[in-house]
Amino acid sequence: MTAPREVAIVGGGLAGFTTAQELRKHGYDGRIRIIDPEGVPYDRPPLSKEYLDGSMPAEKLPFVPDSWYADNSVELVTERVAALLPAEGRLTLAGGTELSADTVVLALGGRARTLPVPGGDLPGLLYLRTKADADLLRTRMVPGARITIIGAGLIGAEVASTAAKAGATVTLVDPVPVPLAPICGAELAVRLHAMHAEHGVDVRCAMTTAIEADGPEYTVALNDGSRIVSDTVLVAVGIVPETGLATAAGLATDQGIVVDEAHRTSNPAVYAAGDVARIRHSDGTLLRRHEHWESAMHGGQAVAASIVGLDLPQHGAGWMWSDRYGVHVEAVGDMVNGTPIVRTVDGVPVTAFRMESDGRMIGACTIDGGTAIRAARRIIDRGIVVDPSKLADATVELKKLAR
Ligand SMILES: Cc1cc2nc3c(=O)[nH]c(=O)nc-3n(C[C@H](O)[C@H](O)[C@H](O)COP(=O)(O)OP(=O)(O)OC[C@H]3O[C@@H](n4cnc5c(N)ncnc54)[C@H](O)[C@@H]3O)c2cc1C
Repeated sequence: MTAPREVAIVGGGLAGFTTAQELRKHGYDGRIRIIDPEGVPYDRPPLSKEYLDGSMPAEKLPFVPDSWYADNSVELVTERVAALLPAEGRLTLAGGTELSADTVVLALGGRARTLPVPGGDLPGLLYLRTKADADLLRTRMVPGARITIIGAGLIGAEVASTAAKAGATVTLVDPVPVPLAPICGAELAVRLHAMHAEHGVDVRCAMTTAIEADGPEYTVALNDGSRIVSDTVLVAVGIVPETGLATAAGLATDQGIVVDEAHRTSNPAVYAAGDVARIRHSDGTLLRRHEHWESAMHGGQAVAASIVGLDLPQHGAGWMWSDRYGVHVEAVGDMVNGTPIVRTVDGVPVTAFRMESDGRMIGACTIDGGTAIRAARRIIDRGIVVDPSKLADATVELKKLAR
């Protein structure tokens, strides 16, 4: 297989940056451009955590020092891509410039989902996806400020925690009684959700039916008849994958850009990775998109290996983390299916597992579980059958069961 001469990576988030980094690690010596209006690639998880609360400076957000790009001959093009012309080996930037590229990597991520309710498109509503979004949100995190957060998923919950710590008066709205149960399992999700009220956040289990603006104030109307008045409304109800460029270029999409196991789209010269990509296995099974950091990195690694013709890296069960109210949450694998086993300490659930009927573990989640999640991951990936009574016993070290 002949490596391409010019790779254009559209989107400089984790998936795009990893693709460039891995291509160079594999010795690829052709031209690499990362094209993204945001400029120097940076990491997003701190935007709802230590960057938002001011404990991490902006200089720490980029993946690598600026000098890395010149040292590795990776060009940054700070512009939006407006169109792809894969058949002609070209793409068009928003300003009209055309760039050549015999291989294109789409690492476009997603944009924040808007609320489909009256007022859901008000210009003053905040979202959190970019550093600029976090910078704006930070200015609102002041003692006494009234902040309503719609959506108690990962980002909404983290921002609620950060805002409460900053002294803001926080209301958190979600129609789901126990958000995050699909990621953490209901047992731990209940504990995590309860932390909001324990830290003074006003938690409302209701649907948002409308948002109104009156000068600097917003009123969020709920389907239980209540109305919340605040200075800031953050809408954190998930993302919509950025499939527009792919669709316009005639690539297969289905709530994500459809790729094969090698991350190739329906056009063999175009790859996709990260939050925007959705893998279809060779047997036709279309997987769910992942919207987690590690999966975006793995996607970039897979694309780079595919481009240079190496075997695809093998990865085990998917992993994610989140932080709120000073606790660290990690989850691996599938916490939706299987039978639950829960470890408690002093009656408080700390780790939950999901087991298949044949004794194999398929998922685990832990709150401040230290090394437990690494051990659980090994147990899952190696198919180790463990004694359920030992799993439930918090005095048994999980890493001993993983041997
Ligand atoms: C606030 C926040 C906190 C998070 N916290 C966690 C966490 O704790 N744990 C975890 O596992 N995951 C977390 N995530 C998720 C994780 O950061 C994402 O899964 C990851 O960033 C996805 O990387 P990506 O490269 O696919 O997309 P993105 O990081 O979204 O990057 C996509 C890039 O594409 C660019 N782009 C879009 N359209 C165009 C275009 N037309 N032309 C050029 N460029 C374009 C965008 O500007 C953007 O920079 C968090 C995400 C956010 C936003």
